[in-house]
Amino acid sequence: MSEKRTEISEIGEFGLIDRLHQKIKIQHESSLKGIGDDAAVIDAGDHVKVVTTDLLLEGVHFDLSYAPLPHVGFKAVAVNVSDVAAMNAIAKQITVSIAITNRFSVEAVEALYAGINAACEHFGVDLVGGDTTSSRSGLVISVTAIGEAQKEQLSYRSGAKENDIICVTGDLGGAFVGLQVLEREKQVFLANPNMQPELEKYQIVTARQLRPDARMDIVHELREIGVVPTSMMDISDGLASELFHICKASGVGVTIYEDKLPIDKQTFDTAVELNMDPITCVLNGGEDYELIFTISQEDYKKLEKHPDIHFIGYVNKEADGKHLVTKSGTAVALKAQGWKHF
Ligand SMILES: [Mg+2]
Repeated sequence: MSEKRTEISEIGEFGLIDRLHQKIKIQHESSLKGIGDDAAVIDAGDHVKVVTTDLLLEGVHFDLSYAPLPHVGFKAVAVNVSDVAAMNAIAKQITVSIAITNRFSVEAVEALYAGINAACEHFGVDLVGGDTTSSRSGLVISVTAIGEAQKEQLSYRSGAKENDIICVTGDLGGAFVGLQVLEREKQVFLANPNMQPELEKYQIVTARQLRPDARMDIVHELREIGVVPTSMMDISDGLASELFHICKASGVGVTIYEDKLPIDKQTFDTAVELNMDPITCVLNGGEDYELIFTISQEDYKKLEKHPDIHFIGYVNKEADGKHLVTKSGTAVALKAQGWKHF
């Protein structure tokens, strides 16, 4: 008797998550939201907790030939804080677990933790636990972040409504372009170790890849001005891919405008230099860890003048589809490529 074998690449990462998700039974009323958003939501009586976790593997998620250990530590915390921010919650605690090989010295592990501690200070979170174990193949880091909010302050992927305005923070595409620069310099170095990498002129994009920020600042600001996004995600897999998630969860379509997409000058110039289309980098480049969210029309006035929030389009009926309006005014179907881990 032969057992059926399905390759993970056939169904993809999200297909795999969907398939595993179907077999999970929720047993507690306090488990308000399980798999399917940026973080899980747990009822804690007078407030809710959000919990999210990420696993980072050397050689898959980071390359120590160009990523300094303190940056790897910082990024491991930032990507989890970003998922807490994506729920419109405030990050409070993290746990950090690592697996290391004997290739790492005590000083190297301390360098990693220097970055973790810097991130804790930057984001205002406490490191409250974790585990350390040995690994046979490279460095593994797993961070779990816990955040808090009032129930009514949370923003899920599923709340976007027709006519809502789509907002993104910061600028996009930089982390992806930065990764291409780092990979190129690595190849140059491998071919000729006497060549020193020329990274001076790429500082913004390489920093976006190596040491991304998380937009916890935006969550605090939204609290202060009294805006609760109708839906929200962080941009880890690329803008187009995240928009598809919001559309699917909310049962809506979207229209976004090419000329409204925020791109940094260095990102644009470097993409052109590398023969890449800057708009493709903005739409499909991942790891920017900015926020994408939707707001109701009446909240627009409160955010209109914000220097770091960009209004890129609006939510429409599901039946009207997902479109990108190009600079020449043509509406083209939006495609989600995102990151493929398998
Ligand atoms: Mg996320």
